[in-house]
Parts: sequence; C-alpha cells; structure tokens
Amino acid sequence: MLIVMQSNATNEKIQKVIDFIKEKGFDAHVSKGADHTVIGAVGRKVMDKRDIELLDGVKEVIRITSPYKLISRVFKPEDTIINVNGVKFGGGFSGMIAGPCTVETYDQMDITAKLLSECGVKILRGGAFKPRTSPYSFQGLGEEGLKILREVADKYNMAVTSEVMEVSQIPLFLKYVDILQVGARNMQNFNLLKSLGEIRKPVLLKRGLSATIEEWLMSAEYLLAGGNREVILCERGIRTFEHITRNTLDISAIPVVQKISHLPIVVDPSHATGLRDKVAPMSKAAIAAGADGLIIEVHHSPETAVCDGAQSLYPEQFAELYKELKVLAKVVHKEF
Ligand code: PEP
Ligand code: MN
Repeated sequence: MLIVMQSNATNEKIQKVIDFIKEKGFDAHVSKGADHTVIGAVGRKVMDKRDIELLDGVKEVIRITSPYKLISRVFKPEDTIINVNGVKFGGGFSGMIAGPCTVETYDQMDITAKLLSECGVKILRGGAFKPRTSPYSFQGLGEEGLKILREVADKYNMAVTSEVMEVSQIPLFLKYVDILQVGARNMQNFNLLKSLGEIRKPVLLKRGLSATIEEWLMSAEYLLAGGNREVILCERGIRTFEHITRNTLDISAIPVVQKISHLPIVVDPSHATGLRDKVAPMSKAAIAAGADGLIIEVHHSPETAVCDGAQSLYPEQFAELYKELKVLAKVVHKEF
C-alpha cells in the first residue's frame, strides 16, 4: 500500500502515519519527494485503506498488493483443472453441464437426462431448493428433488449439480450431489462459504447479481481458505440498466478472471440472457473468449416448464449447439 502525503504535511503528521501503520504490523518505507512524501506500507496483514485515508495529512492511499491469496496466480501459476465424472474444467478443457432449471418429476428428469446423455453430456443440473424472488413461486421439491436427480443421473452414468442454499443443507447435498452450486443470491453468504470450504467436493460459485469481480473472487477465497481447492467460478450475468435481457453477460470477466486466478470459469448463458434465442450466440461468445465450460438450461418441454421455460433450450437445439461448440472450441485450443 502506498500512502501519498499532502504537500504541506508536517513531519509530525508523517510520523503519526508511520507509527499508525507500524502499530498495525506493517513496515514503513519512506520516500521524500520534492512535493510529496510517500510512505510504502509493506506487510502480510490486511489493512482497511479507509483507516489511513482518514488520518491527518494523507492525500491518497493506493493499494498495490492484491487482496487475493490462494485464488491468485501468484500463489499457483498453473491452471487448476477440476475433473468431475471425466469432464474437465480449466486449462485446455471446457466442460458442459446441462439440464432443467428445476427438478419437477421423475419422468421430466428421465426424459431430459436421456436426451442429454445421448448428446454426450455427463453432468446434469437441476435445482431442488430454488431461490425464488416471490415466496408464492415454486420453491423446489427439496430432498425428493435431490433423490430424483441422483437416481436419474446414476441411470445414465451422469454426475449432478444442484444449488445449496444454506449451511444446514450441506450434509444432504453431500449425500446426493457431485458439485454443490452456490447461487448468485448467496455469493456473499459467508457462513455458507466457510462451511463449503470444509467439504471436499467441488463447488460451483456463481457471481452475485451486482457483484464486482473482486467481490466474487474474494468469495472464492473463502472456499480456498477453508481448504476446499475445487472451486469453479460461474459468470451468469450481472444486473445493469438493460431490461431486454434478464441480465447482462459480462464476457470480459472470462479473460479478467483468468489473468488473476488459476480457477476455472464457466458461463451460464441461460440466466445471463433469460431468452432462449440468445443462449446459442452467448455460448459461442463465451467459448470463443476462452471459457472453461458452460452450464445451460434445457427442458424437454419448455412451454410447460415450472421455472425458466423461456430461457430453456429444446433438446434438439441443445444438441445442435453442443456440436457447433465442439468445433469452435478447437479454434481456441480447448477440448470440449
Ligand atoms: C440456477 O442456476 O438455478 C440459478 C438460480 O441461477 P442464479 O443463482 O445464477 O440465479
Ligand atoms: Mn433457472
């Protein structure tokens, strides 16, 4: 952290800042320029920049060390590759996850899983506990939904992902699910993140609706700090002033995250756009930009879907898209 003092800052004020940062456990490196004195605070601890900004005589505080540790490429330069049921995310690999928004019935899941596995999909999605904006909307089948998901997935040799909403649900999820999904609305549920840091199963961490990339990565840091190194980040669109699409897909998050972090990043074009006809172009854009995978909503009968039918692909649309994506992935040197 660099502390730039005001040009008229007295020696006494400068000394007070030095004493303050030393007290916080940092070394102070002072450089007296013609106009300004600059103090470099060097240390391993975390300091709130605002505490220094408020000190007398301080003009500006510039953070130069990154807040990230375990998620950062400084800590681990090589890409993390996460393997679930033979599907790899990260490095030279892109993985596909597909399925309906929510588990409705055994037959619905059976039909969808069969069609998807015929396309070569090996990871099935389906929410059993749904975070709905309205308390009157379908809230998910709960444990029954997880059971259906597991049973159907086993039938077609698939792995499953589903959203865990609270700490008390974790044991249930460990029983049925291969990847525990943290939804956008829970990205900063720090108690949940801490508990998921203790498990040894992959976590798919969605970006919050209004989260900056830094906030999202700090949430991933919670998981790694707890000891869980298997974290897949998921860009699912952020809220902007645009209303035509459900959210705005931040494609630039892909190269930004990949530069900072070794963790894989996948894209959810379904929740990002909310519109079926936008899913294919956004999937292609994501893969072209180097995404480490996709999570796509597919329903055998979107018109009758209980949830998110408008953004769910028809199985035949998905099959076509997946074929095209495999071709495209080669151009960016990814195996898909
Ligand atoms: C989901 O994937 O089921 C979901 C609810 O997505 P998000 O948390 O990104 O809104
Ligand atoms: Mn959905």
